[in-house]
Amino acid sequence: MSTIAQLFQEKSCVFSIECFPPKQTTKFADMQQTLRRMKELHPDFVSVTYGAGGSAGGVSSVQVANFLKNDLGILPLAHTICMGSDREKMAVQLDDLRAVGVHNVLALRGDHTPLRPESPDFHHASDLMEFIRKTAPDMEFSGACYPEGHPEAPSLTADVANLLHKQQAGAVHLVTQLFFDNGKFYRFLNMARKAGITLPVSAGIMPIVRRSQIERTVALSSASLPSEFTRMVSRWQDDPASLYKAGIDYAVHQLRDMIEGGADGVHLYAMNDADVAEAVYDGIHDLL
Ligand code: FAD
Repeated sequence: MSTIAQLFQEKSCVFSIECFPPKQTTKFADMQQTLRRMKELHPDFVSVTYGAGGSAGGVSSVQVANFLKNDLGILPLAHTICMGSDREKMAVQLDDLRAVGVHNVLALRGDHTPLRPESPDFHHASDLMEFIRKTAPDMEFSGACYPEGHPEAPSLTADVANLLHKQQAGAVHLVTQLFFDNGKFYRFLNMARKAGITLPVSAGIMPIVRRSQIERTVALSSASLPSEFTRMVSRWQDDPASLYKAGIDYAVHQLRDMIEGGADGVHLYAMNDADVAEAVYDGIHDLL
């Protein structure tokens, strides 16, 4: 099985899917079935979130990564965060991943939430990356990036400049926050390349197929909404079946443009929905 760094050398566009561990352990069997279906879409890797939204308990990222790697033979990318962790806890987490044969992590800071204390040891994702590089040389790590700038950064330029810390710490790849306007991605990529970022970048796309997703997703991601997107929502907001179809079409259109536009990778935020992942894959597989 290739590592993530190797995949970007071997393939013109790396296709990946993100999933999240269920909050209830009783839901793990359903998730396993979802992942079996996603395997048929031939993802090059599947990333597994860690405590996103500040949740704790339930199925662990290690359990999901273990299932992906050892039951399905899919390369897992296990997310890991600074918040709520420190050197000792992180060493244990990396040991747990290593014990199930997982050697790729997405090193993140995590969002501020009252449920999770700041880390005394890692203030930024790049601090965590330095720690992994020094103490776990068998681990390969990726990082996050933000086509519209991270909400805490004073400007997009400053945020892009901070990506150099991740590159210098040894990250092998970057995954973007979701976005709905491809123009923002191309502008960001151009800025990043001019700033000296040479890492491959996966463009993160989330199909919006339900009205309830819109407010939540936009609030969490700070992604701006182009008029084409808002027109789609206003047109179909009271017609769930049409909104579903239009949301898939929108994501397929975004992804086809990304792949044809030369993106190093595309990353599908499929929200554990195999139907959505299959419908999107149907629309792009001829390009992969
Ligand atoms: P950082 O890289 O630390 O950046 C945070 C801020 O600090 C930015 O404004 C940046 O410009 C600045 N900065 C960065 N490095 C430095 C530096 N060295 N010196 C000074 N300033 C710096 N959250 C979860 O809890 N679980 C998940 O599984 C998860 N998965 C995610 C996956 C992706 C692809 C993305 C894009 C985000 C994910 N998140 C997840 C959310 C993420 O944790 C938050 O967006 C968080 O606010 C920032 O994480 P980061 O790793 O980019 O932080």
